[in-house]
Amino acid sequence: MYGAGDVRVQEVPDAAISEPTDALVRVTRACICGSDLWPYKSMPASEEGARMGHEFIGVVEEVGSSVATVRRGDVVVAPFVYSDGTCQFCEEGLQTSCTNGGFWGASGVDGGQGEAVRIPQADGTLVVLPVAEDDALMPSLLTLSDVFATGHHAALGARVQAGKTVAVVGDGADGLCGVMAAKRRGAEQIIILGRHADRTDLARDFGATDVVAERGKEAVTRVRELTGGVGAHSVLECVGMDDAFTTAVKIARSGGAVGRVGVPQYGALPAARDTFLRNITVSGGIAPARAYIEELLPDVLEGRLEPGRVFDRTVDLDGVPAGYKAMDDRDSIKVMVKP
Ligand SMILES: [Zn+2]
Repeated sequence: MYGAGDVRVQEVPDAAISEPTDALVRVTRACICGSDLWPYKSMPASEEGARMGHEFIGVVEEVGSSVATVRRGDVVVAPFVYSDGTCQFCEEGLQTSCTNGGFWGASGVDGGQGEAVRIPQADGTLVVLPVAEDDALMPSLLTLSDVFATGHHAALGARVQAGKTVAVVGDGADGLCGVMAAKRRGAEQIIILGRHADRTDLARDFGATDVVAERGKEAVTRVRELTGGVGAHSVLECVGMDDAFTTAVKIARSGGAVGRVGVPQYGALPAARDTFLRNITVSGGIAPARAYIEELLPDVLEGRLEPGRVFDRTVDLDGVPAGYKAMDDRDSIKVMVKP
């Protein structure tokens, strides 16, 4: 990406192993993230550009001399942050804070929207998938890299519990996966705030019981009507804008919790006084997807959950710029890249 709206497909040096802890992965599936749209909207023009893509599945082509848990030929999923799996934060399940970790596409590391990626810290990062590279489950498996794990993280942050009420702010792929995660944790009532029928229909398929198309104050009123006048026990904030966060707080029940996974576009937490006066817990953050993959994997492998339904378009590498535009125009919920 060379700036707002400027995505180009270019030849770069071949990915290659440089450390004994590296693996080389040929990418078989990748995707465009809602968070990729923030730089797509606002990145200043840059001469050197930025490598893009942080969600991918591929086949291991080669491993460094110290790599022990993956080998050539394995089909693997990469979480959206790489991590060593052994530091104090990895031990605590917070691989996004790994002291030896980092982001794809930054600091000389390849991006996932390409043909191949050098994987730093391969043992701590990659999870082997017991499927062939063209398995029909690929779209759903690919969501373990970020979006389904992020929805799960939102549900945990919002303390979703069986039999309770949940509201989800945002009808993008993260919000839809948040609905699925809330349902998976046994929520009784799941309200999605969204106004695009194709998205809210999918939300219903994923477990939403109510759809609120209103925004702002009207949305708050409507959610309160649907929850006995008091608001939802758990609110998943999957947008990151000031008004979305404010709405999330206002539709939370007193003593409830907001789990935020939308990348904040605000400088200070809005609605601070309301969270104080009504004892609303604000939690969430960047999702340690690596911590959740093993837990979420069986539901996908055994066909109980199909988070891959969030993909409504597939492009090849040459189609990636058009894929960004389609998502930015909201013509597409989420775009899969098949190199
Ligand atoms: Zn670590």
